[in-house]
Amino acid sequence: MPLDLKALVRTIPDYPRKGILFRDITTLIENPEGFKESVERIASQHRGKGITHVAGIEARGFIFGAGVAIALGVGFIPVRKKGKLPGETIGQNYALEYGVDTIEIHADVLKAGDKVLLIDDLIATGGTALAAVSLLRRTGATVDDAAFVIDLPEIGGASKLKAVHVEVTALMA
Ligand code: 5GP
Repeated sequence: MPLDLKALVRTIPDYPRKGILFRDITTLIENPEGFKESVERIASQHRGKGITHVAGIEARGFIFGAGVAIALGVGFIPVRKKGKLPGETIGQNYALEYGVDTIEIHADVLKAGDKVLLIDDLIATGGTALAAVSLLRRTGATVDDAAFVIDLPEIGGASKLKAVHVEVTALMA
């Protein structure tokens, strides 16, 4: 019987605001088989594609992305919130429900010819992932693939990534 990863994700109502059903992946990563299996499934979906780097989105994308980078034998790039990286950075703004946020990477971390797999725990509107794809592509690197533990397909984020020629995989919907 394959492990039921979805059963290990907990749903918390009214977090961070009333009316939101928050998918909590801490229960998945607390489970050693669940965490290992999540990382291995993502890695196996992307083996043999010539991936040179895994980029993970702060903060939960770091957890899965680091594991996948090790499994694929490639380096890990943290896509961070503004002001957290010590070296010279490039940044990308993206719209939130109320306001604007910025993500950053080090300016010299990638070059043309690199092939990046983007990872986050969850895709909802796709705003965060789209901004990360734009930012990573500005270095000249290729970003053809994005992997998520959870896709919320009714919100439509994966379709937005597909529209910019990013292939999307998710372990559960
Ligand atoms: P989007 O930009 O696609 O609307 O939102 C995705 C981002 O918000 C991801 O970085 C993800 O970690 C976070 N996020 C939004 N909703 C949830 C949720 O229900 N559970 C978790 N774990 N993360 C969420």
